[in-house]
Amino acid sequence: MRQSRMAALCMKNIYQVCIPHTARDYFDYQAPAELEPTIGARVWVPFRKKIRLGIIVGIVPAATIPENTRFIETLIDESPLLTEELFALCQWISRYYQSPLSEVLPLALPKKYREGAVAQLPMTEAFQLALPLTEVQVKVAPRAQKQQQMAAFLAEQDKPVTKKELQQMGFSSAVLKTLLQLQCINTVLQPQLPPPPAHELQPSLTLNSEQQEALQVLMAHGHEYRCFLLQGVTGSGKTEVYLQLIQSVLQQGKQALVLVPEIGLTPQLVARFMARFHELIMVIHSSLNESERQYAWQLAHEGMARIIIGTRAAVFTPMPSLGIIIIDEEHDLSFKQMEGVRYSARDVALMRAHRLHIPILLGSATPSLETLYNVEQKKYQLLRLTQRAEAQKPLHVQLVDLRAQTLEHGLAKSTLNVIKEHLQQQNQVLIFINRRGFAPVLMCHQCGWMMDCPACDSHLTLHKHQLICHHCGLIKMIPKKCGRCSSDELIPVGAGTQRIHEFLTHYFPQYTLSRVDRDAMRKKEALELELARIQQGKAQLIVGTQMLAKGHHFPRLTLVVVVDADAGLYHQDFRALEHLAQLLTQVAGRAGRAEYPGQVLIQTHEPQHPLLNTLIRKGYDALAQEILLMRRQAQLPPYYYLALIRAQSHDLEQLKQWFQQCKIFLHQLNIEVMGPAPAPLPRKAHQHRMQLLLKSASRKILQAALTQWREWLTINKLNNSVRWNVDIDPVDLS
Ligand code: ADP
Ligand code: ZN
Ligand code: ZN
Repeated sequence: MRQSRMAALCMKNIYQVCIPHTARDYFDYQAPAELEPTIGARVWVPFRKKIRLGIIVGIVPAATIPENTRFIETLIDESPLLTEELFALCQWISRYYQSPLSEVLPLALPKKYREGAVAQLPMTEAFQLALPLTEVQVKVAPRAQKQQQMAAFLAEQDKPVTKKELQQMGFSSAVLKTLLQLQCINTVLQPQLPPPPAHELQPSLTLNSEQQEALQVLMAHGHEYRCFLLQGVTGSGKTEVYLQLIQSVLQQGKQALVLVPEIGLTPQLVARFMARFHELIMVIHSSLNESERQYAWQLAHEGMARIIIGTRAAVFTPMPSLGIIIIDEEHDLSFKQMEGVRYSARDVALMRAHRLHIPILLGSATPSLETLYNVEQKKYQLLRLTQRAEAQKPLHVQLVDLRAQTLEHGLAKSTLNVIKEHLQQQNQVLIFINRRGFAPVLMCHQCGWMMDCPACDSHLTLHKHQLICHHCGLIKMIPKKCGRCSSDELIPVGAGTQRIHEFLTHYFPQYTLSRVDRDAMRKKEALELELARIQQGKAQLIVGTQMLAKGHHFPRLTLVVVVDADAGLYHQDFRALEHLAQLLTQVAGRAGRAEYPGQVLIQTHEPQHPLLNTLIRKGYDALAQEILLMRRQAQLPPYYYLALIRAQSHDLEQLKQWFQQCKIFLHQLNIEVMGPAPAPLPRKAHQHRMQLLLKSASRKILQAALTQWREWLTINKLNNSVRWNVDIDPVDLS
């Protein structure tokens, strides 16, 4: 007994330090006696020939420490910067998404903190009286009126006052300087806080019975983990339910996290939240600069920001009293990170809510099949909004049979006539085509030659003044002659936004057009301006990609034309149909808002397609049921779990060999292994690309197999020229 206590006394600690982007979870260090790092604190450590920033992820008592163990140099944080809760969440992500901690932890810290910045709010100078007012009045010349006034003003304040506030009160910096020199006032440093909101609060709306019922159910389960799906079309009043739910959560002194898709985070949405609450709301999205990001993070971390609205990465925001997570448009693909750690922010949020024992609310008009399946399995609780909050006329959806029709730049004659009718009635028309550029390819009319990207197995996309590879970004001049037969008859095949826009400009010269795609709207502000222009009715004919599919209210829009539904029907990815249905439902929902009836035309070569017809006649839910049935039969998600191993190399033979060895190993592990097969884009930027699909009915078995495989890879360093990654629950098999 005594001996072991003695041993414990002599025990030292080995500190496990995670160093970002080192492909490992951590490295072992020891600490000099004067340092006592805690888990979650940052340190500077020697690593190879450099000093790197690390995060303590484990402390292991050891009787002896191996001699060559290096010492931690500096401790940056006295208390953990990464909270226990987020650290545990990151560990789960690391296991589930098969990514080392050194890739996962950086996701949870702003760049400034990954570079060692002190974790605190920016400080600003403020001033207060250093002496009682009576003494100051004696020290300051009686004739110096401004100085006397400022002293009197400061005496009345219950907290230090910033220079800016003094200026607003009409005191110049000269007056301030004099009083400082006279040592009548002193300077304190205080955290810089956003100005308190001054606007009047907008009252909550009176909920309709469905909204009321949903809110009651949600509020009744405020203290446990439970996942709810709020299903209702755009305009059915989901956001109003979010707002009132958040209100009740804030009243209990808790914080709220709202995740929205990239495209969904508009100034209008933020303004709507701001108008409703006086509590501090911070917005986190990809175009913040690093200081703004650090500021929002720190305000949330210290519990001052009560509501966080953000895109995917905001799921990692530290919030000490988080009480609710809301995910709007939960089916949206932008919640899945497609590079690095390929996490799904929706699934991470579910896990976070689960661990915190708090409710989570998913909202959508067109829920993902995973979510619908979980509702069916009674894992999630469905709340529906079917009454439109605003009166709506029913939609009129028609298929336009493109077979044997001559197309004018992608549009059928009958389509053009309908467009004309709507325009003549002073209404707005949206032409939806999910393909940017002028045309998919430029083809020789004589011999069929197309210009390919020399670095990728892909044709170059024709844009107005150049050819661009959409995979590697290569730009080429448009050739005058065919590269094979020298004919000068090069013609664009197929249509993109640019081509349709240009054609319609000539065809309907009397109307104003607008084009909304990634090329036309490179900046977020440009998109905002254009949307405002459309909203005010300044453009009648709008040509756009999925940037226009959701969330925008165009009151005079009465016709939506879907130029090409076929791409989604025949895509090789098994999820393409689900995404097409979501997109079509959303785009169709744009038409006929407010008092105008709406019409939707969907152009297709396959008007008999049964699933397309289900969607049109019975709606999204019915189609979702049919697709689910097909998925069950095909043993695909959500019934089965998938993981995709992608790898690339400049050397095709080495790549094939690498996959063969992996396959042999994986085969012993009780999971299904399909492939390897060339990736849908087999060569990109001079790299050969292949993939191997793994499948299992059990998430656990699949996860265990992948963990074993990764360990095996680490031990048997197979081939250095091969770069690989694993995508768990891939949403896109390309
Ligand atoms: P969603 O989020 O489903 O698109 P919103 O909450 O944005 O729906 O509601 C659409 C419109 O209807 C908004 O202008 C909103 O102010 C209004 N609205 C929502 N609920 C009500 C209600 N109970 N009474 C009156 N107007 C409502
Ligand atoms: Zn040719
Ligand atoms: Zn390319």
